[in-house]
Amino acid sequence: MNDALYSDNADSLDSPSYEIFALRYATHDTRRSGENYLGDDPHDDIAMPLDFYVWVIRGEGRTVLVDTGFDAATAMRRGRRYLHAPVDLLNALGIDAHDIDTVIISHMHYDHAGNIRAFPGATLRIQEAEMAYCTGRCMCHAVVRRPFESRDVCAAIERLHAGRVVFADGDEVIAPGISVHLVGGHTAGLQVVRVNTARGHVVLASDAAHYWDHVRSGHLFPIVHNVPSMLDGHRMITKLADSPDHVIPGHDPLVRARFPHWNGHPDIVALHAQPVSDMHAVEGELALETGDAR
Ligand SMILES: [Zn+2]
Ligand SMILES: [Zn+2]
Repeated sequence: MNDALYSDNADSLDSPSYEIFALRYATHDTRRSGENYLGDDPHDDIAMPLDFYVWVIRGEGRTVLVDTGFDAATAMRRGRRYLHAPVDLLNALGIDAHDIDTVIISHMHYDHAGNIRAFPGATLRIQEAEMAYCTGRCMCHAVVRRPFESRDVCAAIERLHAGRVVFADGDEVIAPGISVHLVGGHTAGLQVVRVNTARGHVVLASDAAHYWDHVRSGHLFPIVHNVPSMLDGHRMITKLADSPDHVIPGHDPLVRARFPHWNGHPDIVALHAQPVSDMHAVEGELALETGDAR
């Protein structure tokens, strides 16, 4: 671990700053108890939708994609509501999938690594531990294998054999102002992405935190490789980010409610901009909409 990367935030003045967009491409109607919280009390069984995002980092002549989402066939097979192909959302931002040269894969679960072949010119940036995990003995267990698609794993291996995979082993700088950090916990090699923006350091937590509430309450999503590592991960992302508003959870519908929409697009929000509303106010509004007391 390189403590200098997150001992303070003084480097933000020297680093280039980037735009970051969250692109929601699918959604799923889940319940809080059992589905979204490990070991939750059944009386907390309320509606708690799960959104699916990919993220774009843009600036300094670079466009970096974080995760690739899944495709329509996978959505149908797994019963998820598909809203857009991620490449169509990129097109809305004026980005052609063929022009993407860097894709950071947070981890190899189906909802994060499902469209690798749609980015034929991209080099994948992934943790060595994640590739070992999704191709190793842990996959002998059906329950561990379930959030993976073998064709996604094959696509990553094809890219490796084309000479277009760069492995990280811990913390790694992708470009000035953009770094990845090994967290683990949810999968063996889950990594988060730290990005300098005009409002400070934002951390794209991916599945290190599905919802803001997981970090705040110390609870976990039920898909866990290592419980203490996942809890340590909450602390690590908090430390890497400039404030709780700078931690961007991987699946929280509040992301779309809290950040300004790009060009009025319903499913693209700007994470480099200040949040437009307070966390608790938005939670209250959502609870009223769904009739739930959260
Ligand atoms: Zn995951
Ligand atoms: Zn996920």
